[in-house]
Amino acid sequence: MAKVAGKPRKKLPKELAVIRADNCTGCEACIEVCPVDCIYKVPGEDQPSLQSFCDIDLERCIGCSLCERWCPWDAIDMVVTPEIAKHVADKGGPPSYVEKNWEPLVSVAQSLAELAAEQIAEAAAKKKK
Ligand code: SF4
Ligand code: SF4
Repeated sequence: MAKVAGKPRKKLPKELAVIRADNCTGCEACIEVCPVDCIYKVPGEDQPSLQSFCDIDLERCIGCSLCERWCPWDAIDMVVTPEIAKHVADKGGPPSYVEKNWEPLVSVAQSLAELAAEQIAEAAAKKKK
């Protein structure tokens, strides 16, 4: 079975959540509702308490969309999993945030996207049989 960060993942959600960091106020409403505790606070670079925003550990996101529904600032989008990497690369935030965190953010999203595409292709092949 394909693996992400060393851990096998049985079936990926059809969609995953992305926080548009420039719209996020760090209000934490999404943290409160996430059933798997996969949303975390990122401190601001210059004024940690004032400029913080939230981000998501995509390896644990189950795609339930509760955070998207509860976000008062419309800062969260649900994205089809095979397209998640480009949305994460474009998530905004402080100028070098994504660049500095490329491995845990974009590389992980890319692995998940590839795995999802693989699972979709496998399911389609099974249907044809
Ligand atoms: S609910 Fe929305 S604005 Fe509030 S911390 Fe989460 S993503 Fe940011
Ligand atoms: S979609 Fe669900 S599991 Fe994923 S971050 Fe949002 S609340 Fe958490």
